Amino acid sequence: MTEQNFAKWDFDLVVIGGGPGGYIAAIRAAQLGMKVACVEKRKNLGGTCLNVGCIPSKALLEISHKFHDAEHQFEKLGIAVSKPKIDVKKLLANKNEIIAGLTGGIAGLFKKNKVTAIEGTGKFLNKNEIEVTKTDGSKEKVSAKNFIIATGSEVTKLPNVEIDEKIIVSSTGALELETVPQKMIVIGAGVIGLELGSVWGRFGTEIEVVEYLDKITPAMDAEVSRNFQRILEKQGFKFRLSTKVVSVKKEKNGAKVEVESVAQGENSGKKETLSADVVLVAIGRKPNTENLGLENVGIKTNARGFIENNHLRTSVENIFVIGDVTTGPMLAHKAEDEGMAVAEIIAGQKGHVNYDVIPSVIYTHPEVACVGKSEEELKAAGVSYKVGKFSMMANSRARATFDDQGFVKILADAKSDRVLGAHIIARDAGNTIHEVVVAMEFGGSAEDIARTCHAHPTYNEAVKEAALAVDKRAIHS
Ligand SMILES: Cc1cc2nc3c(=O)[nH]c(=O)nc-3n(C[C@H](O)[C@H](O)[C@H](O)COP(=O)(O)OP(=O)(O)OC[C@H]3O[C@@H](n4cnc5c(N)ncnc54)[C@H](O)[C@@H]3O)c2cc1C
Repeated sequence: MTEQNFAKWDFDLVVIGGGPGGYIAAIRAAQLGMKVACVEKRKNLGGTCLNVGCIPSKALLEISHKFHDAEHQFEKLGIAVSKPKIDVKKLLANKNEIIAGLTGGIAGLFKKNKVTAIEGTGKFLNKNEIEVTKTDGSKEKVSAKNFIIATGSEVTKLPNVEIDEKIIVSSTGALELETVPQKMIVIGAGVIGLELGSVWGRFGTEIEVVEYLDKITPAMDAEVSRNFQRILEKQGFKFRLSTKVVSVKKEKNGAKVEVESVAQGENSGKKETLSADVVLVAIGRKPNTENLGLENVGIKTNARGFIENNHLRTSVENIFVIGDVTTGPMLAHKAEDEGMAVAEIIAGQKGHVNYDVIPSVIYTHPEVACVGKSEEELKAAGVSYKVGKFSMMANSRARATFDDQGFVKILADAKSDRVLGAHIIARDAGNTIHEVVVAMEFGGSAEDIARTCHAHPTYNEAVKEAALAVDKRAIHS
C-alpha cells in the first residue's frame, strides 16, 4: 500500500492536531507501516492535555496539596515547620518544566517512529489535500490518502464576556496567575472549575462557585455529587447553585459578577452582585472546527458543533475523526483510545473503543472517580441492580495515612451480578478505580472482585469490601 501511494500522495495518512488523540493515532499508524505526518498549529505537540489541560493542572494540584498539608496537616502529625509561603514564579516554572519535558518527549517519539511533524494550521482544500499555514504566514500544500481530524476543543465563552486571561480567565489563564488572588469566582461547578478552584483555594484564595444547575458535577451519580459537595464545603468552597450569571464586568482591580437565582420558591429571580479579583469561566469546552475547510469536503457539524462519526469515520470515506472534536466524553484517554483504534481501522484491522467503560476522574483531594452507570442512569433504564458500599473510614490504609474521607460504591446487576458501575471518593480514587475498569472490560461480576486477593493494607481493599457488600457480606462494616 505504502509504495503504491508514494507517487500519488505525499503521505498515506495526515493527522490534523497533535493532542493525545492525534499524536497517538500518528504513532500507531506509523507502527503499522504507514507514512504519516501530523500537522499541529501549536509550537509544542501534546494538545490541550499537555500544554494547558490535564498535566499543568495536575502539577499545580500536587504542589498546592503539599502546601496545604504543610500549612494544615504537618503540625497535627507532629512535624513542626514554620508557616509555608508560596513563590508563584517558582510554582509556574516547575509546572512549565514538566510541560516542556513531556511535549519534547512526544517530538522524540515522532522522530523514533518516523512521523513527520508539520508546524502550522491545516485546512482542507479537497478530500485528499490540505493547506498548511505556517506561523510566518507562508503556505504549503500537503496531500494524503487518508486524514484524521483530531483538532480537539477550546474554551466555551460566556456571551458578552471578554476573557483577558488576567482578571477574567479561562482554565488557561487560571494555570498562569502571577499572584494568589484573595477571592476567585468560578463560573461552572464542573471538573475543571473544581480542580482549579482547589488549586488556588489551597493557597488561601476564597472560592465561590456559581452554578446554573442545582447540583455540582451534574452528570455524576447524585449520592457521590452530594457527598463531594459537602467535602468541598468543608474545605472552604462556597457554592451558589441554581444561579444564573447575568453579566461579568471587568473593573480596575477585579470584576463584578451579576447573578440571578433560578431556584424555585421565594428566592426565584433574586439578583445580587458579587465581586472578586479573578473570575474563572469554566462552563465547558467546544469542538474546534472553525477554519478547517469542512465546507470544501462536505463534512457537516451537528447542532452542538461536533463532527459526528460512525466507527470513527466521517461522512467522507477517507476522512476520520477522533477526540474532543467528535461526540463522547471530552477526556484525554478517550481521545487516546480512539487514536489507537482509528489507526488500526485505517490499516484494515478491527480497532475498537468500549464507550461503556471509560473512567472519569476529578483530581481534587480526595479524588472522585467513576466508571459505568450511575444509580440514576440504571433507574431511568429500568435495570434492577444491587448496591455495595464501603466507607474509607473502615479501610486500614486510609486510616494509617490520615486520609479516610469518602467511600466506594459498586453497582451490580441484580440477577447476573455483573458490575455495571463504580463510584469512588477517596485519596487516590483515580488509580483505585482501575481494577473495576478491568473487571468491567472482562464482563466481571462483583463476586469476581470479591474473590480476588487484594494486598493489605491498600485503598483497593475498600473495593473488595464494596464488592462483598453487594452480597451483604462485607467484613469490616
Ligand atoms: C484545565 C483542563 C484540565 C483537564 N484535565 C483532564 C484530565 O485530568 N483528564 C482528562 O482525561 N482530560 C482532561 N482534560 C481534557 C483533555 O485535555 C482533552 O479531552 C484532550 O486534550 C482531548 O484531546 P484531543 O487530542 O481530542 O484534542 P486536544 O488536546 O485539544 O488537541 C488538539 C490539537 O489540535 C490543534 N489544532 C486545532 N485545529 C488545528 C488546525 N486546523 N491545524 C493544526 N492543528 C490544529 C490544537 O492546537 C491542539 O493542540 C482537561 C482539559 C482542561 C482544559
